Amino acid sequence: MKNASFLVFAALIALLPVTPAPEFWITLANYIGLYSIVAIGLVLVTGVAGMTSFGQAAFVGIGAYTTAYLSTTFGVSPWLTLLIGIALTAIAAFAIGAITMRLSGHYLPLGTIAWGLSIFYLFGNLDFLGKYDGISGIAPLDFFGHALSSGRSMYYLIWLIVIVALIASHNLLNSRPGRAIRALKGGRLMAEAMGIDTTRMKIAVFVYAAVLAAISGWLYAHLQRAVNPSPFNINAGIEYLFMVVIGGGGYLRGAILGAALLTILKDQLQGILPALLGGSGNYETIVFGILLVILLQWAPDGLWPLIRKRLPQRRAIDAPTQAQPLARRAQPQAGSALLDVVDVRKAFGGLVAVKGLSFAVRAGEIVGLIGPNGAGKSTMFNLVTGLIAMTSGSIRFRGEAIGHLPSRQIAKRGVARTFQHVKLLPTMSVLENVALGAHLRGRAGFARSLLRANRKDEAALLHEAALQLQRVGLQDRMYDEAGSLALGQQRILEIARALCGDPVLLLLDEPAAGLRYQEKQALAALLEKLRAEGMSILIVEHDMDFVMNLTDRLVVMEFGTKIAEGLPAEVQKNPAVLEAYLGGIDEEEKVSEHV
Ligand code: ADP
Ligand code: MG
Repeated sequence: MKNASFLVFAALIALLPVTPAPEFWITLANYIGLYSIVAIGLVLVTGVAGMTSFGQAAFVGIGAYTTAYLSTTFGVSPWLTLLIGIALTAIAAFAIGAITMRLSGHYLPLGTIAWGLSIFYLFGNLDFLGKYDGISGIAPLDFFGHALSSGRSMYYLIWLIVIVALIASHNLLNSRPGRAIRALKGGRLMAEAMGIDTTRMKIAVFVYAAVLAAISGWLYAHLQRAVNPSPFNINAGIEYLFMVVIGGGGYLRGAILGAALLTILKDQLQGILPALLGGSGNYETIVFGILLVILLQWAPDGLWPLIRKRLPQRRAIDAPTQAQPLARRAQPQAGSALLDVVDVRKAFGGLVAVKGLSFAVRAGEIVGLIGPNGAGKSTMFNLVTGLIAMTSGSIRFRGEAIGHLPSRQIAKRGVARTFQHVKLLPTMSVLENVALGAHLRGRAGFARSLLRANRKDEAALLHEAALQLQRVGLQDRMYDEAGSLALGQQRILEIARALCGDPVLLLLDEPAAGLRYQEKQALAALLEKLRAEGMSILIVEHDMDFVMNLTDRLVVMEFGTKIAEGLPAEVQKNPAVLEAYLGGIDEEEKVSEHV
């Protein structure tokens, strides 16, 4: 965060109260700060991780009510109630998250609405919380004997927390768990294949955001000196979401921009509309809604990206020039049993994609899995890597049954893969995408990353990613956005990412698809090099020339069964194989292209 625009921003914030700004500006700025803290957490949950939560306001409420109740009833110090509020919120968020974060599609936002409402009604119905009247007479915060009783004195504390939340969240995003959080949006499969426990990650980021919300609630209670349920209802939850969306979903600073815009807009409308339209009525809600819709039509990605374009470009995260090398696992003895697939069957409802397939890969071999489109090759890859569960059969890796393990457990044992349909995070740099592959080899978790106590771990992971990029010859594109690479290069990126996991067995699903001739030559050379280093590879590929020269053995599939197996030269002459390929739709093309 050491850049000019951030320093200017921080300086402006620091200077506002010493300018002759009217008191009212300070009040507004305080509320913007309070909302920003919540919105920063929501950026992580919704904007970055892709989980829509309508319920954040409820966590603000838990933070606010905890301090309101404990400080007024038992005279507990607000600094202690802050910790208690954080703990209570974390426990609540963990329990709620463990249930709702497993939901997908529309069920997740609906789930957040459900518990958001429940907590709101709880505040309103509990006697000891004062029901709908709430709790008043909350003491101001006491800061080393100095009471923070004015808006101006609260201002600094609020904005200090905003800045700390911003920096901590920024640190988190640019770290091992941060990459894992960003990977959540790309879908569960890729993240799990990289060894990320996606459910745990979702719950963790959800708890983090809830804790930020609770801190905001604590500040709110001591600013307002009274609480009642209404600021914590579902409307507020919706407004927090608006702040995030308007600010620019995935950007932390967008949270502050969104909070500022919404707060100022609402305030202005409340002043202008009654004068304009006469009388009272909640016109502002209607006009506000219309303005938001227009705004989102005009800037669907929110406003921060528009501003960001005008700021000096920030360079992507650097690869360290040196770092402690990561430990490597011992590679198995060449020729030893590695992968044993026995009588594996996979049915998708009525469609049986794999029908009792058996084959083996020995350490140090390159085995090709070939067959016409729809033969079941990718399904086989998904079964071996645990992304889908097999219907029956057994899969053993180095003698251990892995058929029913979750994919991150299989990744841990040294099975890495690429995808036929490239799965990467297009707006993240090539380097960081590749570093995702080393997830299991890092240790730094949430807390260390927030505090930036993860530097050694982080340097080791990024250095490893840089080494693997060098290994595959993509080092020149290290700092580019992954989405800007040509498809062929994106496939190479996926190989580098898989290599980052220090695999024993590499599964490549059509790595040469979309590559130009020279790129194919380079890929073949790379795979030869990997073989020379003792890597075992199972490869699905359509380009027959490519497969013939490279592989030790071929397994040929058609309609989910194995129709041939053997040395490439033998398989090429096998009548059943010729038939399978000749039987395709565009025969002429296939003959020349494949056999
Ligand atoms: P290949 O990779 O050999 O071209 P696939 O393994 O992708 O073939 O597909 C094999 C068959 O299984 C196809 O008929 C495909 O439509 C079907 N299939 C693959 N995945 C699924 C799925 N998740 N749900 C339903 N059918 C699937
Ligand atoms: Mg396929």
